[in-house]
Amino acid sequence: MQLIPKSHPRAKSLLVREKLVKGFDNGLVAKEGLLAQGRGEAFDYLLGEKTGKAAARAIKAAAAQLLLAEMPVISVNGNIAALCPKQVVRLSKQIKAKIEVNLFYTNANRKRAIIRTLKKNGATEILGSKSDSSTKLSGIDSARRIVDKNGIFVADIVVVPLEDGDRTMALRKAGKTVITFDLNPLSRTSQTASITIVDNVTRAIDLLIVECKKMSKSNKKDLHRIIADFDNKKNLRESVNQIKNNLTRRARVA
Ligand code: ATP
Repeated sequence: MQLIPKSHPRAKSLLVREKLVKGFDNGLVAKEGLLAQGRGEAFDYLLGEKTGKAAARAIKAAAAQLLLAEMPVISVNGNIAALCPKQVVRLSKQIKAKIEVNLFYTNANRKRAIIRTLKKNGATEILGSKSDSSTKLSGIDSARRIVDKNGIFVADIVVVPLEDGDRTMALRKAGKTVITFDLNPLSRTSQTASITIVDNVTRAIDLLIVECKKMSKSNKKDLHRIIADFDNKKNLRESVNQIKNNLTRRARVA
């Protein structure tokens, strides 16, 4: 791993990039996952590399939704396993969610590496690796249509960080509430999900864990109110405005 001086103005973002490269070297991340990271970095730059008000609002709504869930599942791909395995396990314990590995570019070795990483970080049960408990989600062509009968297939709420649009649409069509982390407020995933957290997952997942903990004693009525007051489309427009404002500010300085 390259040494990044702490004084570097973009040290945090470069460390995230390093984590992904390390994940690629260790067989967790697909080549395509590196490209997805690149796209994410571009949007993160435009968003000012910080959690905006819209993201904070989405995190709160996501926490309320997860605390009301009957059968929440966190879907994990290579990028997430490389970027924040510990936090995925922490979140799953906090909200009693199952963890399921689901890959776009499926590959048995990669899946094994992801499972190993999650276990090393404290996960006990990980779904998505047994063919005898798999079934198909209709409406998608890729390997991602294969889901676990006891996981995503029966989940009411699915957390899908860094997802592709087809799968998000298929999950919504299957009646699931979908919570996503996606830095691009214009992606099909962002536009289709029930709750879109437009922020870097490496920042936002910690905030979501804290919010879930903070709200765990709230009564159901209050949680329902938070969800009813949340408007994903409006929130996405606010993230787009955050980008516009940053661009205007930077252009003035340039
Ligand atoms: P869609 O099919 O939803 O339109 P896409 O094809 O543009 O999406 P993919 O390459 O499938 O995108 O998925 C990657 C998405 O994840 C991108 O929208 C990218 O901005 C986002 N992304 C990448 N890295 C991060 C990250 N660290 N945190 C949050 N989002 C990220």
